[in-house]
Amino acid sequence: MPEIIVKPSNLKELWEMLPGLPASRRYLAGGTDIVTANNAGAESSVCWIDISGLPELAVIKETAGSLFIGSGVKISEIERSKAAARWCPALTAAIPHFASPSLRNMATLGGNAANSSPCADGVCALVAEGACALLALRGKKRRLPLKDLFLGPKRTALKKDEVILGFEIPKRPRAGAYLKLGPRAYFGISKAAVAVTAEISGGVVKRVCVALGSVAPVPLHAARTSAWLVNKKLSAETIAGASDLVKAEVSPITDARSGADYRREMCGVLLERALKSLAE
Ligand SMILES: Cc1cc2nc3c(=O)[nH]c(=O)nc-3n(C[C@H](O)[C@H](O)[C@H](O)COP(=O)(O)OP(=O)(O)OC[C@H]3O[C@@H](n4cnc5c(N)ncnc54)[C@H](O)[C@@H]3O)c2cc1C
Repeated sequence: MPEIIVKPSNLKELWEMLPGLPASRRYLAGGTDIVTANNAGAESSVCWIDISGLPELAVIKETAGSLFIGSGVKISEIERSKAAARWCPALTAAIPHFASPSLRNMATLGGNAANSSPCADGVCALVAEGACALLALRGKKRRLPLKDLFLGPKRTALKKDEVILGFEIPKRPRAGAYLKLGPRAYFGISKAAVAVTAEISGGVVKRVCVALGSVAPVPLHAARTSAWLVNKKLSAETIAGASDLVKAEVSPITDARSGADYRREMCGVLLERALKSLAE
């Protein structure tokens, strides 16, 4: 465990506190990733900054054009949110696949994103929602498309001490799906996952976003497959075409959980199933 744990009560106090803290420091939110890493000997910071009490990160709020989900909101709170259910169809579909009910009472979306695992279910769904990440460092704020936050496994575009404030999701009526293939139906890390949101009018795809988990170094925005689907009738031929295309867009590896070839095939199968469910 770290030598020091500090707990600011708001963002202003956090920025004031930073200069006096050891250089080796990390944020602690729900602790489900960082404590696990610490227990495995993979985390050795001298100081943890407990941001779980920051009120600025704990809100879900709607504006005219977007829904803001604070980075510190627990996954189980998102599960209960009517606004999230209305505006985040892929995220809503992903939540039952996210760990277990007890883990969802602790884990946050901010930790899911900052941990930058290619198999993170919450952020894969959020990429399909077209979310932006709102970031802050000593009062300076910036906004980044979420897909651009991830640089590789455990590597993000976050600067030292930069905090993810939350995620902005555009409020657009659309359908969504999240399909995850794991070692069992629930409670497992995915071998492959597909998240899709789509606006379909008269059977024609007007806008679509496909994202995939566990099949690339980052939660992947399948830009080519998404662009190809736009303005096409969501017919059996279109779905088969998208399923072929997505297999060429992913770059899975073979590891203890699955083989690369199997994962690639399953991306096609999962996308086909997801698009069929949206076409119905
Ligand atoms: C048994 C088990 C099962 C799991 N199953 C799943 C699963 O099915 N799907 C899935 O996606 N994940 C799963 N996870 C992983 C984990 O629960 C998630 O990644 C979770 O969302 C992490 O959030 P947290 O609040 O616990 O993060 P923490 O552990 O507190 O932090 C994780 C990292 O993010 C940084 N951080 C946290 N918040 C911020 C912020 N606001 N700004 C900047 N940096 C921040 C921390 O410094 C740390 O580096 C599982 C974990 C365990 C232990």
